[in-house]
Amino acid sequence: MKNRSGGLVYSTEQGKMCPGCRNPVDQCTCGKPERPAGDGIVRVSRETKGRKGKGVTLITGIPLDDKELKSFAKVLKAKCGTGGTIKDGVVEIQGDHRDLLVPLLQQKGWTVKKAGG
Ligand SMILES: [Zn+2]
Repeated sequence: MKNRSGGLVYSTEQGKMCPGCRNPVDQCTCGKPERPAGDGIVRVSRETKGRKGKGVTLITGIPLDDKELKSFAKVLKAKCGTGGTIKDGVVEIQGDHRDLLVPLLQQKGWTVKKAGG
């Protein structure tokens, strides 16, 4: 997927090229979110359809790349004392923890909206 081990390769014709994505370094796409940036609003919703018990809390629109999102989700899971996963940039936390999660997300300086039932 992403090549972080290789250094930069210099070419006089094209300038510095990134070996990871083979783009010029100023257009490098490595380590950047592969999804659209969205509208800058982090949405916290609850999904119960097809889920057991209280369902899951879904957090969408977090402006972090996959690596940062992974460690942030770890913190959120620990705060909620529950498990969860990340799917396509959406954090899923087991159970309904919206009231706990919204202030945590707001602390990061993001605009947070509670959505859904
Ligand atoms: Zn790159």
